[in-house]
Amino acid sequence: MIDIPTQSIEVTCPSGLRGVVRKLTGKEAAILADRSLSRQGTLVDEILRRVWISTVEAEPYPFKVEQPIPWSKVLIGDRDFVFLQTRIVTHGVEYSFKIRCDDCGDSFSWDIDLSKLPVQSLEGENLERFKDGNVFEGVLPSGRGFKFRLARGEDAARVLRSMREQRKGRRDKHGERMKPNPLIESVLMRLIEIEDVGNKPSDRREFIESMGLDEIASTLDEMDRVDCGVNMTIAVCCPSCENEFDVNLPFDENFLLPRVRRKSVGSTETETATTD
Ligand SMILES: [Zn+2]
Repeated sequence: MIDIPTQSIEVTCPSGLRGVVRKLTGKEAAILADRSLSRQGTLVDEILRRVWISTVEAEPYPFKVEQPIPWSKVLIGDRDFVFLQTRIVTHGVEYSFKIRCDDCGDSFSWDIDLSKLPVQSLEGENLERFKDGNVFEGVLPSGRGFKFRLARGEDAARVLRSMREQRKGRRDKHGERMKPNPLIESVLMRLIEIEDVGNKPSDRREFIESMGLDEIASTLDEMDRVDCGVNMTIAVCCPSCENEFDVNLPFDENFLLPRVRRKSVGSTETETATTD
């Protein structure tokens, strides 16, 4: 038994990694407000490093329980889960967020219980494969085989860098500026190789970009099926027009901030201006 300080909880991540997460304190407020950390994609790492106060069980990772967790090596599913638990231990399970209806354009609030979000665990053969080098096999809709890994923090960081580069002006063969596509980046982030396709990252990118969007989506589904994590897709219904649609839980620095109306001198309160 370890001594758990008050205002912290023991959590078991989707992979089985277990440890103690503490509440956010005023010290973290500056980190959450640091735009450069959030732009670099290192905000989550910084938060995880601070709130994870001890490891109870490092399996399935080869980490030592007495050493700090190298969060860049941790699966996205586990990182998201700890981020979510940080919100829960700090502000409770209730979460309210604003949505704009994609049909009538009205804004409304939606309340959810964060402890009820479905969590997919890493189990059985998938767990063994992860421990045994993290190499998974799949088949593209065209019948071509491929190998992929479950994404870790460092894979997501690489994608963020790549998307930033693309926004800066990567151009295609015809000199057109290319916009990063999150769907394609999510597939490329996990791809190790594709049967009979060259071994360079640019070969894989070219191949995936030439696939149909439906095929890319189904490839991503195939990768997600074996992965672990929190399902953050929430079905909502607009109170004005009864339009039902899915939104992704907004998972950024604001997610960890208390939900209060901040009125400070000089702030532009667009929210109150439009809703009251
Ligand atoms: Zn509506």
